[in-house]
Amino acid sequence: MLFFAAPILFYLFALNSGLAEGWEEKRTRMIDVDLKPRGITSPEVLKAMMNVPRHEFVPENIRGLAYADRPLPIGEGQTISQPFVVAWMSQLLVIEKGMKVLEIGTGSGYQAAILAELEARTFSMEIRPNLARDVKIRLNLLGYEVHVRQGDGYYGWKEHAPFDRIIITAAANHVPLPLLDQLKAGGKLILPLGNVRYYQNMTLIEKDSDGEFHTSQHGQVRFVPMVGAAQE
Ligand code: SAH
Repeated sequence: MLFFAAPILFYLFALNSGLAEGWEEKRTRMIDVDLKPRGITSPEVLKAMMNVPRHEFVPENIRGLAYADRPLPIGEGQTISQPFVVAWMSQLLVIEKGMKVLEIGTGSGYQAAILAELEARTFSMEIRPNLARDVKIRLNLLGYEVHVRQGDGYYGWKEHAPFDRIIITAAANHVPLPLLDQLKAGGKLILPLGNVRYYQNMTLIEKDSDGEFHTSQHGQVRFVPMVGAAQE
């Protein structure tokens, strides 16, 4: 009996662990085809992108598309960003081990998991209660230590401020002032800044040791709009 059952059990195990579907191969291809040739060179970011199982962050019925370089719907009209953009924002932020990082717009939790893989102390805020509830469970199950709070990220997370890095993963037409206040001197903040209905520019803001801000732009992107106080 065991003679017949063993291959079946192994197959079920393989299917469940992603071996049969080749998740790892798909991730390797994503890195070789979509990330490295387009300028993702940070070994830490590449390693994090290799380690995080993106298929666990997308709805089950579209898992097959998890390693395509495109955003995907995650419910409530929101999207998980495309892998290249996640890697690119992470690389532009130059995250070092132990840094305190605040993300605005937890969504699926994928970017937050990348931050956790980079060994940042990761804090993330999500305004939509259902997404916040689901993402807390998902990150927990996958073993990622991320502090998630439901609320409007426009005001930041005062109790844990200041932050070394802040990443806003929703489009805004201005930089939320409370977030600039909660950035450490020497810190960096990144956001898609521009017209929230059309395109935005990937904008990096660096706060120098005198508290002065320096801005650089890194090309056009398209994100879902930041809602709440950002729209008032
Ligand atoms: N970083 C996410 C994708 C973000 S999609 C990921 O890796 O999957 C943008 C997210 O920002 C959505 O989940 C949306 O609900 C959230 N959001 C929009 N406005 C917000 C605000 N003011 N504060 C916190 N989250 C916000």
